[in-house]
Amino acid sequence: MARPLRARIDLDAVREHYRFAKRLAPRARALAVVKANAYGHGAIAIARALAREADGFAVACVEEALELRESGISAPILLLDGIFSPAELPLIDDARLTPVVHSWPQLEWLRQARPRHRIDCWLKMDSGMHRMGFAPTDFAPAYAALAECRQIGTIVLMSHFARADEPEHPFTARQLHCFEQVCQHLSAPRSLANSAALLSCARSHADWTRPGIMLYGVSPMLHPHPLAASLRPAMTLETALISVREVDAGEPIGYGGRFVCERPTRVGVAAVGYADGYPRHAIDGAPVAVKGQLTRLIGRVSMDLITIDLNGIANAAIGDPVELWGRQVSATALAQASGTIAYQLFTNLNRRVPVVYE
Ligand code: PLP
Repeated sequence: MARPLRARIDLDAVREHYRFAKRLAPRARALAVVKANAYGHGAIAIARALAREADGFAVACVEEALELRESGISAPILLLDGIFSPAELPLIDDARLTPVVHSWPQLEWLRQARPRHRIDCWLKMDSGMHRMGFAPTDFAPAYAALAECRQIGTIVLMSHFARADEPEHPFTARQLHCFEQVCQHLSAPRSLANSAALLSCARSHADWTRPGIMLYGVSPMLHPHPLAASLRPAMTLETALISVREVDAGEPIGYGGRFVCERPTRVGVAAVGYADGYPRHAIDGAPVAVKGQLTRLIGRVSMDLITIDLNGIANAAIGDPVELWGRQVSATALAQASGTIAYQLFTNLNRRVPVVYE
């Protein structure tokens, strides 16, 4: 028998979530964010699954975009991190990619370019996140400088929210106000909303939305939100028990003896470890499911193995199914027990994990 670890991806769930995103903002077009290998779900498979209906895709860089073009994706592809050097411009031109322009040097490279086709651009404003984008005072001049270039096609005005996952926090309204004020005299389409803003801030929907994590069925919100209730995880990471043993009370489990059995414990070993992308920092008590029943991780995560408390699982035996995350074990809950976020669990998934699409 082969190593039982695999990631199963439900492509229907991704399609349903994309349609849900479109229903939430019916007047907007939606870019499906498929950067970082579609958050670990497989960029080509996800883009192909959405190819008939997606208004476009968003990736981080040219390499990710070219992978999609080579697999037959013809929809617009936005480069979220923009242009890294002028040497990329011929590739952007040939593959008809749409760069984000977030700095004066990038704008200058575009002004000096002589592409074969007009290059569509998204101009990014820093409305308060202070990570990327033109300062509000620079934004209208940057727009004017770009708009007068003959080699530039359509321009979309964009910004990104820092705290949209906390709908009660006033920071999103502050960013929105800043963006709206600066853009009020610029007549160009606009884009602000990531998944969290799509779910919680209708005022931000504008002309283009940019859903990422919600496509993969994970709530972007910090706290439960009614509109996130219908999302279902697209990815299930599953394996099996490969060893079961009885350990006496007082005995330690695994490296460093971090966990010590409080009582006689039936301990299961499952075939997954940090080299697969399972979080090395998962604490004792992190959720895991055996035969569909929730139980807890005990002991440190090893490179290829984890140890599980089987005391509450009747007749647990070698070969029994173990879910690491998916519908029984929320990726968010495991991430919280590991000091990270579901985004990172997904993107850390290692290439040695076979992926099955259904
Ligand atoms: N827009 C931009 C600029 C992003 O950087 C991201 C992701 O990081 C997204 C949209 C999608 O965000 P989310 O996955 O939270 O929906």
